[in-house]
Amino acid sequence: MEIQEILASQKAFFNSNATKSIDFRIAQLTKIKKVLKDNEALLYKAIYDDFGKSEFETYLTELSLLYHEINNSIDNIEKWSKRKKVSTGFVNFPAKSYIIPEPLGSTLIIGAWNYPYQLSLVPAITSLAAGNTVILKPSELPARTSAVMAKLINENFASEYFCVVEGGIEETTELLNQKFDKIFFTGSTTVGKIVYQAAAKHLTPVTLELGGKSPTFVLADTDIKMTAKRIVWAKFLNAGQTCIAPDYILVDKAIESRFLQALKEEIKANYKEKDVKAENYLQIINSKNFDRLIKLLDSNKIYHGGTTNEVERFISPTIMHNITFEDEVMEDEIFGPLLPVLSFTNLDEAIKKVKSRPKPLSCYIYTKSSKSADKLLSEISFGGGAVNDSLMHLSNSKLPFGGVGGSGIGNYHGKAGFDSFTHFKSILDKSFLLEPSIKYAPYSDMKKKIIKWFLE
Ligand code: NAD
Repeated sequence: MEIQEILASQKAFFNSNATKSIDFRIAQLTKIKKVLKDNEALLYKAIYDDFGKSEFETYLTELSLLYHEINNSIDNIEKWSKRKKVSTGFVNFPAKSYIIPEPLGSTLIIGAWNYPYQLSLVPAITSLAAGNTVILKPSELPARTSAVMAKLINENFASEYFCVVEGGIEETTELLNQKFDKIFFTGSTTVGKIVYQAAAKHLTPVTLELGGKSPTFVLADTDIKMTAKRIVWAKFLNAGQTCIAPDYILVDKAIESRFLQALKEEIKANYKEKDVKAENYLQIINSKNFDRLIKLLDSNKIYHGGTTNEVERFISPTIMHNITFEDEVMEDEIFGPLLPVLSFTNLDEAIKKVKSRPKPLSCYIYTKSSKSADKLLSEISFGGGAVNDSLMHLSNSKLPFGGVGGSGIGNYHGKAGFDSFTHFKSILDKSFLLEPSIKYAPYSDMKKKIIKWFLE
């Protein structure tokens, strides 16, 4: 079916009011969960064939988040969709005031490739929970993963309600030419700008989940071993192809050599320095990204790692040292398993450097001092992050997830996601009992005096 036809049918279906029923929404979410559960083997195989992602990592970083989002939505839909009473104030007495959460209508979700299931299906689930229809366009780069989502969704759901359209730039451009009621995009800042411009033509609201270079501060008073352990896990999960991965480290010069040593030991304990597909380590998604990453590998600055294999698209977990903000690896988001370590002697100078760059999606702060943590939290603007951990803030659906400035617009996960696909309709509901004449003509000084007396 043509894109225009699918969208027209979705608009008609939405206008039938079918998606407004809470029972309908819960039934659909329950069905999505069943379809995913029944087909886990297909989902695991597709993503392994695309870029070597293991069952364990796929469950941990993709499927478990989908199940959590479905369960959490089912448990809370009723509460989140309820009209909420607010106070009215004497100006409108006697009346009541309330806010009605209502679905926006037809929504478009555009996914990124790096966590292909999670980044496509979490927003889709959220939008459906909020009572919308969905056209989902997953990233075309992991081709088998995109195909398996299209198969499972399109075979089990009517296209007038929930439909996957596969494709790349051409198909996305055609989708962006249509008038949706909401666009939710995950991807690069460059394409985010294209999406925003297309949405502006129709005044369509957007959520943009973009990228950026996420700094990680390691202060002298930290627990060095534990810090290295948490950073190594967070950086090399998904072979560094994570939007909120620690992009680079800023470590206090006083502990730099001990910290570098701890990073190396942690990598050695967890990963093999071998150029083969391993159960707990991924490939780079494609040759284009492999070549881009290889160019950033300055052999004079490799502290540990640096093993590569073009055929397998393998780059071993790599630590780079003696790095400055002028190095090439510090220009753009790395999005791969290279970890540059920069040292500082003056924290304020380091903060200044970070603040001179675009606002990052995440920031991580390792210190035992809550005073130091608070200083960094209050001085640097970023999407979200963690103190003494990395990445794990994403696992708490009570924390809205999203960027700020160059790293994005809007939030999702849990209630924040539901709200981002919802319009809040404000209603003043008045009684016929009374109608004071004070606001009506003829106006007089006395009426003005009374109004001023009340309002000032
Ligand atoms: P991308 O911007 O290249 O692609 C994202 C989507 O846009 C894909 O579906 C793609 O088909 C489509 N697209 C690509 N070029 C297009 C064009 N010219 N016109 C219209 N559509 C186009 O991003 P990516 O490579 O898939 O993902 C990597 C980026 O995404 C990184 O910057 C990363 O930080 C970011 N990211 C952000 C989050 C987040 O939650 N904030 C999550 C994952 C990835």
